[in-house]
Amino acid sequence: MHIKLATTALLLLVFSLPVAAQDFKVTLLGTGDPIPRIDRFGPATLVEVGGQELLFDVGRGASQRLVQMNIALSALDAVFLTHFHHDHLVGLPDLWMTGWIPPPFGRRSVPFEVWGPTGTASLLKNLEEAFALNTSIRIPDELLPPAGIEMIAHEFDADGVVYEKDGVKVTAFAVNHGELIKPAYGYRIDYDDRAVIISGDTRFDKNLIAAAKGADLIVHEVALASDELLASSEQFRRIVAHHTTPEEAGIVFAEIAPKLAVYTHLVMLSSRTIPEAPLHSLITRTRTNYNGPLVIGEDLMSFIVDDTVSISRAAR
Ligand SMILES: [Zn+2]
Ligand SMILES: [Zn+2]
Repeated sequence: MHIKLATTALLLLVFSLPVAAQDFKVTLLGTGDPIPRIDRFGPATLVEVGGQELLFDVGRGASQRLVQMNIALSALDAVFLTHFHHDHLVGLPDLWMTGWIPPPFGRRSVPFEVWGPTGTASLLKNLEEAFALNTSIRIPDELLPPAGIEMIAHEFDADGVVYEKDGVKVTAFAVNHGELIKPAYGYRIDYDDRAVIISGDTRFDKNLIAAAKGADLIVHEVALASDELLASSEQFRRIVAHHTTPEEAGIVFAEIAPKLAVYTHLVMLSSRTIPEAPLHSLITRTRTNYNGPLVIGEDLMSFIVDDTVSISRAAR
């Protein structure tokens, strides 16, 4: 009897505690760059919002990370591409085709839909061509539905709303990833008076600051190289010039004042003789311009976007 009362009291306590709404959640599936590392997979960020599963970029290993989260590959509602550097795309054919085959994580029976800048339709068409034999073999051999391997491209060539469904709005905004690297876009996801920014790959860019006004969470790329490394190579100087330094990101974050700023797509350059800068220097160098909430992203780190933004780390 006493035990039952205590249990009831505990249950009441649990249910009366304020619980953060779980209807807007962001998970970093991959926080790396082109370097094939085991601890940081290629760039990919999952946004679970209003009951929809939206994926931004599909870097190497995105499908493994989704399955680690127990999310079926076929459960994605929409995939968005920021630009055409291969590290953001190489997981796309895997996700597309593996999400179609018979195991429980697959079984997609409706077309795979991808939003992205001009060039997306050509990419999808060429993937269909490259894997035409896989498609034509598996349909009769595994009795797979032809509709599940179809792809639909939704291309855009200017800033604006690119996706709107059941209160979820996705807006694309051009970013500056360098003179030769066009098109390149970032995304803003709005839902129920909350907003998340995905920077995409970009240098310091005022267009991003304007697009990100009032956002609760900013998921931003960053690049870091030591002065010694930069002095040693024109190629490294060019790479760093395509990205945002921690000091520059600090200016962006200070302008926007989000509830949380998160680093992803960590470009930590090194050479055979000059090592990577230590990870904590990302924080110390950002602090020269920004004192607000800041975290260095890890694969499978999640953020619940509510009145506050809280962090959780899945066991890997
Ligand atoms: Zn990149
Ligand atoms: Zn890039």
